Amino acid sequence: MSHTQLKVVLSQDKLPVEYYNIQHDLPEPLPPPLDPGTLQPMSPEPLLRLFAKECVMQEVSTQEFIPIPDEVRQAYLRLGRPTPLYRATRLEQQLKTPAKIFFKREDLNPVGSHKPNTAIPQAYYHRKEGTERLTTETGAGQWGSALALATALFDIDLTIYMTRISYEQKPYRRTLMEVYGAEVFASPSSRTNAGKKFLEQDPAHPGSLGIAISEAVEDCVTHPNTKYSLGSVLNHVLMHQSVIGQEAKLQMEEFGEEPDYIVGCIGGGSNFAGLAYPFMRDKLRGKSEAEFVAAEPKAVPSTTRGSYRYDFADTSETTPLIKMYTVGHTYQCPPIHAGGLRYHGKAPSMCMLIDKGYMRSVAYSQNEIMDAGMLLAQTEGIVAAPETNHAIKATIDIALECKRRNEAKTILFNLSGHGLLDLKAYEDKLSNRLVDYEPDAGVLARALEKVPVVR
Ligand SMILES: *Cc1c(COP(=O)(O)O)cnc(C)c1O
Repeated sequence: MSHTQLKVVLSQDKLPVEYYNIQHDLPEPLPPPLDPGTLQPMSPEPLLRLFAKECVMQEVSTQEFIPIPDEVRQAYLRLGRPTPLYRATRLEQQLKTPAKIFFKREDLNPVGSHKPNTAIPQAYYHRKEGTERLTTETGAGQWGSALALATALFDIDLTIYMTRISYEQKPYRRTLMEVYGAEVFASPSSRTNAGKKFLEQDPAHPGSLGIAISEAVEDCVTHPNTKYSLGSVLNHVLMHQSVIGQEAKLQMEEFGEEPDYIVGCIGGGSNFAGLAYPFMRDKLRGKSEAEFVAAEPKAVPSTTRGSYRYDFADTSETTPLIKMYTVGHTYQCPPIHAGGLRYHGKAPSMCMLIDKGYMRSVAYSQNEIMDAGMLLAQTEGIVAAPETNHAIKATIDIALECKRRNEAKTILFNLSGHGLLDLKAYEDKLSNRLVDYEPDAGVLARALEKVPVVR
């Protein structure tokens, strides 16, 4: 009896022992961050007030591989790494495509997304450096719950600023964070000057990731022995996520396949970089022709309609400026269900790779990504997060293109998270209540006008 191989599960000893750092292989060095006051290139020293020293060193490092501490590998094992890699044969059959579709399961840990891959090492480095308390922001709550889990494992206090709209609409993620022992405040809050400023404008302000970042940073710098932790965008975060792609490479080899297309959704870019960069390493060395496809929402079209330039990482203009594709730090995104994809910018290394043509990006509306998610649920049985559904939609589009051309290509996508705490999005889809939004050219132009001009 012969069966098509459906999954590859790696044994414990195949868990990666080092992180891969794309900065070693980029076509040119990343442009330096700029000081928010002077707009001049800044040294990494001021970052030490916010981040773990080890993370700041990783942030600017061009060392190709960085060892993963044993305690971090232990925690990865405890939370289900290595994760399996599946083949989606029922989705292939449904689409009648000659393409083979594979996906990496980053939804199988206790909080249901890839985010613990960086929350774990960040909490570990802070513990080792003597930090007693961390602050952070969260949108829909995936990052907050991942860091709450990690700080519980490494015994650190955690304060989370959660965008008010999600705080009110996603009570279960808030509860999950509190179960792990974190304290959670709706943002904007009256605990910080940044928060008070927005509350004065509008007492029922729905909040934004940019505002929540401003609050978490202010709380950090105004309290002793408190540091801050960010869940995406930064180089060290993307580096931690490289465990995904390193495992996936081994698993694709075991399948006897090499991906022609590598696909993921992008909010800040970390889950897709995690899967893609170990493969991109080969492409940057001329050893692979694989295509890399990043999917974003049409409501926040940073890489498809934004501008590649320096911008603030937060709304209140307190953080350094980084060179990235941005729709402008003041851009107000309507409340789409893919809360994790509402950030105005994207990771600098990924933006450079898109700018130089090593990667391309596509954008989709809420209704089309939820249709893709429904199809995955009904074929493969997995209810994915609305964020992830962007990657699934891009995968389906590529598979259908393969069908038109009669090409048996191999597609690999990242299943970045499950949607069991996002059933509201599916409920709205099923009752035809999902509204599609695309900013018109004027809205985007006005948001970009507020981005400082850097010579
Ligand atoms: C946070 C999140 C994302 C987007 O963040 P990236 O840094 O781009 O990975 C995507 N999928 C899920 C499930 C998330 O929780």
